[in-house]
Amino acid sequence: MNKPFTPRLVYFEPQSLDYPLGKELMEKFEKMDVEIRYTTSHNQVRNLPGDNDLQRYRVAKSTLVVGIRKTLKFDTSKPSAEYAIPFATGCMGHCHYCYLQTTMGSKPYIRTYVNVDEILEAADKYMAERAPELTRFEASCTSDIVGIDHLTHSLKKAIEHFGKSDLGKLRFVTKFHHVDHLLDAKHNGRTRFRFSVNADYVIKNFEPGTSPLEKRIEAAGKVARAGYPLGFIVAPIYLHEGWEEGYYHMFEQLEKELPPEAKEDLTFEFIQHRFTKPAKRVIEKNYPMTKLELDEEKRRYKWGKYGIGKYIYQKEDEEDLKSHLFDYMKSFFPNAKLEYFT
Ligand code: SF4
Repeated sequence: MNKPFTPRLVYFEPQSLDYPLGKELMEKFEKMDVEIRYTTSHNQVRNLPGDNDLQRYRVAKSTLVVGIRKTLKFDTSKPSAEYAIPFATGCMGHCHYCYLQTTMGSKPYIRTYVNVDEILEAADKYMAERAPELTRFEASCTSDIVGIDHLTHSLKKAIEHFGKSDLGKLRFVTKFHHVDHLLDAKHNGRTRFRFSVNADYVIKNFEPGTSPLEKRIEAAGKVARAGYPLGFIVAPIYLHEGWEEGYYHMFEQLEKELPPEAKEDLTFEFIQHRFTKPAKRVIEKNYPMTKLELDEEKRRYKWGKYGIGKYIYQKEDEEDLKSHLFDYMKSFFPNAKLEYFT
């Protein structure tokens, strides 16, 4: 996806128009070629156009619901942060392995919450409770927040909010390159901006509707030059023909793009490809033509929470992936920190 996301259909919950951001979004969409509807609650979003489930799924992925976040109780987000901070849910991307397919079930549309100030006030309360300890907030647990922020600027507001705080830190991850409006945010070094990156083959085959690798890398360069602490999640690490060269090339391109100071404070997270049985069923339904390898026989079963185990790579493959990626990271970025491999 080279152009920033524009929804095809937008629903407004009426109370959202009591908030400045709700009004602003209404004015914005009225000027654009976008169909606007009203709904008393996002649960009432029905009758999406389409002849079958697959078409309706696609329409839902380009439908935006503008509403209010009623629950101001945040979920926990261990281990990388204390809390998930909710500005949006859902995503316009079509990554075949996206975890949202199973978590969002029959409601894959995107929701944005206009009561941003109330959400930030709730965050302040969480910070006060834990003071003098630091509190970290993760903004991308239920969406790719950067992917819609050019429309709402909620993330920008949050970055500046945490920029002013002594006790809070913000982090998020994205597969999109539309970061220009975030470059002048007064982040004060308190937001870690992470990009999800992968071998070119993986992005091209399994991540339709997101930004290409070279665009993500270029955006990472801009973000680094804007002084943000930077991080990369390499996920899902996926075995494919030529994977060694694919991942090597990715690190090589990153090294070329990043300014020297960014390389001194860089984090990596490595996540191998995995799937559960329920996820496999959803993937095959939503992306029936996928080339994604989902063969339980080729994998190792790892017991999981609530009895839903996951299929990860065989020990030998896992070691091979791990040692290659670790070596690439160390040779291109000797001072980077690997937060985990899982
Ligand atoms: Fe899911 Fe992230 Fe892809 Fe969006 S960009 S579809 S949140 S994996």
